[in-house]
Amino acid sequence: MELPYAEPYKIKMVEHIKRSTQEQRLKWIQEADYNLFNLSSDKVFIDVLTDSGTGAMSDKQWAEMMVGDESYAGSSSFLKLKETVHKITGFNYFLPTHQGRAAENVLFSALVKEGDIVPGNSHFDTTKGHIEFRKAKAVDCTIDEAFDTSNMHPFKGNVDLNKLETVFKSHPKEKIPFVVLTITCNSAGGQPVSVQNTKDVSALCKKYGIPLYFDAARFAENAYFIKKREPGYENKSIKEIAKEVFSYGDGMTMSSKKDGLVNMGGFIALNNEEVFKQATVFNIMFEGFITYGGMNGRDMGALAVGLDEATEFNYLESRVEQIAFLGQKLVDFGVPVQQPFGGHAIFLDANKFVPKIPREEYRAQALAIEIYIVGGIRGVEIGTVLADRDPVTRENRYPELELVRLAIPRRTYTNNHMEYIAVALKNIYDTREEAKSGYMIVDEAPIMRHFTAKFKKL
Ligand SMILES: *Cc1c(COP(=O)(O)O)cnc(C)c1O
Repeated sequence: MELPYAEPYKIKMVEHIKRSTQEQRLKWIQEADYNLFNLSSDKVFIDVLTDSGTGAMSDKQWAEMMVGDESYAGSSSFLKLKETVHKITGFNYFLPTHQGRAAENVLFSALVKEGDIVPGNSHFDTTKGHIEFRKAKAVDCTIDEAFDTSNMHPFKGNVDLNKLETVFKSHPKEKIPFVVLTITCNSAGGQPVSVQNTKDVSALCKKYGIPLYFDAARFAENAYFIKKREPGYENKSIKEIAKEVFSYGDGMTMSSKKDGLVNMGGFIALNNEEVFKQATVFNIMFEGFITYGGMNGRDMGALAVGLDEATEFNYLESRVEQIAFLGQKLVDFGVPVQQPFGGHAIFLDANKFVPKIPREEYRAQALAIEIYIVGGIRGVEIGTVLADRDPVTRENRYPELELVRLAIPRRTYTNNHMEYIAVALKNIYDTREEAKSGYMIVDEAPIMRHFTAKFKKL
């Protein structure tokens, strides 16, 4: 008999999590105004709200915490990180920031002006937020296949080159400060971008003289998919693939809370000295001196080790295949999920799951709430609530997909937890005919409303 797969790590420390009853959860979610972000974590049994900063560090990372150098300027932990970032990305200049959106804030302060256009592949919400905050516009050029949850395209994060070229042709070059390529593409479901597409986007950018930056939060998971799916890359190491991908761009912003395998942190890495100089000014203003940028020395050390571990095949296999394990269970139960499975999360297709709940009543939000009530599982809505209102008309924007994301923290839950999630979803799916009404928003912020919006049950 063939030996089954087993994780390439064992557990050195355990953290207890609390069970609760459905009655308790009904009361708690009502008290939280039906916003899952409002729940305290002790009211959650399995927390798959996000994979951002929620993973487990290794013993080697913890050991690095102990030798962190907290010098204000030029700490050895900074130098260790700088060297690792250069080794993995190939970029020459490096600025640490306290998280990914801070990297966006610093870089975009240098590059994005009012009236600008920033094309990309389904920009992440904070990326879009930082573009729109500067009265610029994010234009989505993702391939159409990305919006069909049952299309098995291997690289659904890819950019449609025709869409991109149309944007280039219809705006003067000065109005397009850069293109942002998100790897993997979070908003399209943790879907990868191929090397070929990256190369093609890069060539098109060069033709029009427009820089290409990566939103690289999950670049290692992206490299894993390339190794598994793109011909010619099966024998390359993850580190070789990642470095090749980065070689086609001018720079990157990073949320280290994802593939950095740490709980907090971010950075900018790039090649253009002039942009680096401009970004340095904003980094000092917003984040701190350029050799710590909002991070502790010990955290920079742990990040250096984390980046190295995250770009190892054995780690990535356990990571990405755990997501697939959950996804396959759901498919076997008939639950509608986005396929191929993403690298960090499973996305439930709420349009197919609860079609009778009107879109205006936030059907994906309604499904996310039900999952919490039934299983104590906290996922997140990636649909109309997240899409915010149009900045000009203030109307709800209805995205093509209404999803509930179950983002799995790295090295944190076992496959038994995945089974538990799958069965809870099967039970909800079996009673889906009863779901006919959703929620209304009674209070919301002008931008990124999903974090704080208050809902009322209809
Ligand atoms: C998380 C994330 C960000 C923002 O990073 P934070 O560390 O949460 O500020 C930007 N882009 C992508 C693709 C992300 O996943």
